[in-house]
Amino acid sequence: MHLGLHVDGGGEGFDGAVDYARRLGASSLQIFSSNPKTYRIGPIDVPALERFRARRAEAGIATCAIHTSYLINLASDDPKIANGSLRLLRNDLAVAAAGGIDFVNTHLGSYGKRPREEGFAAVTALLERALEGIAPGVFLVLENSAGAGQLCGGTLEELGDFVRALGHPQLGVCLDTAHSWAAGYDIDSREGVDRFVALADATVSLERVKMFHFNDTQIPLGGHKDRHWHIGEGNIGFAGFRALAAHTELLDKTAILETPGDEADDARNMQSIRLIFEGVRT
Ligand SMILES: [Zn+2]
Ligand SMILES: [Zn+2]
Repeated sequence: MHLGLHVDGGGEGFDGAVDYARRLGASSLQIFSSNPKTYRIGPIDVPALERFRARRAEAGIATCAIHTSYLINLASDDPKIANGSLRLLRNDLAVAAAGGIDFVNTHLGSYGKRPREEGFAAVTALLERALEGIAPGVFLVLENSAGAGQLCGGTLEELGDFVRALGHPQLGVCLDTAHSWAAGYDIDSREGVDRFVALADATVSLERVKMFHFNDTQIPLGGHKDRHWHIGEGNIGFAGFRALAAHTELLDKTAILETPGDEADDARNMQSIRLIFEGVRT
């Protein structure tokens, strides 16, 4: 797999993100295109994005993803929020096109008080509009949620329904391990992971699974809370990630760590996941 991590620009921008990923031996990278907590959209800095692309290539970063703003809620029944979300999503797709970025990974949002059927149709319609303008080479990637309350995308079946409803070749899925565990998928063992991968193939199809977010979690199975923890130090544990590493049909995928802490923690987590994939940790 292309193993990498989410890098919070921290003011150093795209160049800093590449340096950080390279220091930690990552071959993949995820960033925010701008402040993830505002609806404000700035102009697209094309020269900076072209530099970013060249620096990634130099640093051996094979794949790159943008994580969209946390404000995005495509399932909202408030047209202001729904349209603002579509604008943010389209902007990130345009940034990805300008920077040669492979994936735009997004949360779908919450249905709120809406009947799920009505919400599902509304999300599908917005995704269709986002996909209308997508540039070649960019994938729009829907991330599974922890499935709390009325959150959209908490089951593989529901993600599969989006894939079939849209049928667009540039639509993909990202499976976050912490969210999957919190949604009730017992991916802490070989058997559990085998079941999970088989279900992912039957629902969204492995071809559509473009990315994983590799995060451990201390939340109980099915606890529906979105809390990330260090690789191997939570309930998924080394056994769960080893079982994922054993699935050779996933080797061409990208896996991004979104684990907490500072650079020392990031270095430890990158080291752990690399050792798991190298089969050193038994
Ligand atoms: Zn996410
Ligand atoms: Zn995630």
